[in-house]
Amino acid sequence: MRKPFIAANWKMNKTLAETREFLSEFIAGVKDMPDVDIAVAPPFTSLSAAAENLSDTNIILAAQDVFYEDKGAYTGEISPLMLVDCGCKYVIIGHSERRQYFQETDNIINRKSSAARKAGLGVIMCVGESLEEREAGKTFDILLRELEKGLDGIGPQNLVIAYEPIWAIGTGKTATPEQAQKAHAYIRERLRILYGNRADEFCIIYGGSATPENIDSLMACEDVDGALVGGASLKVESFTRIVKFRKEQ
Ligand code: PEP
Repeated sequence: MRKPFIAANWKMNKTLAETREFLSEFIAGVKDMPDVDIAVAPPFTSLSAAAENLSDTNIILAAQDVFYEDKGAYTGEISPLMLVDCGCKYVIIGHSERRQYFQETDNIINRKSSAARKAGLGVIMCVGESLEEREAGKTFDILLRELEKGLDGIGPQNLVIAYEPIWAIGTGKTATPEQAQKAHAYIRERLRILYGNRADEFCIIYGGSATPENIDSLMACEDVDGALVGGASLKVESFTRIVKFRKEQ
């Protein structure tokens, strides 16, 4: 059985003080939850402070992005070694906002993933189609391309795939459980081709306007193993309810 993996992606939100305030309240509310892997990805500026709050807790520290070189003249970038040094265990790679606003290609995403793995970081790789692509019937083609190119040469350890339909991110439009299950099942089928039976071990998590109201029905899907949560992870109450999802029968 796969252990659910639920991650908060705070994006460009929260100061140091807000990070500390959120985490101290959140930790208290989720401390007895050994059956769910919970991760929080604050902005880079809050990573060290978050690592202090999270030490001796069950919550995993993640970063929102990483560069593919270890060090050097890359103004503004953050290396995998720096993330490990801050206490990160996972990093989100290939988020659609990075693909869209920062021109990240499959090749860049693959290099980032490979560098992250070399440093011992787990990878949460985001894949997903735009509305236009969905309406043109290209959802599976996009997923196939992003998975094959992004995962080229990437081993199976600590790998989480986030299915994030772009049309659902930050829009309040969630994929239906049926749409999510269909995409997740396809992703698992492709992972089986890449990794054999280890495909059953991977968490494939859903991202796109996940909320306290829809998490239970999403988590009821056979291949939905968790969530990557943006907007609804910014409030302690709503993110706590999401990590405490109730498995519908
Ligand atoms: C995300 O950005 O990863 C995300 C899923 O955002 P939201 O939950 O706000 O749609």
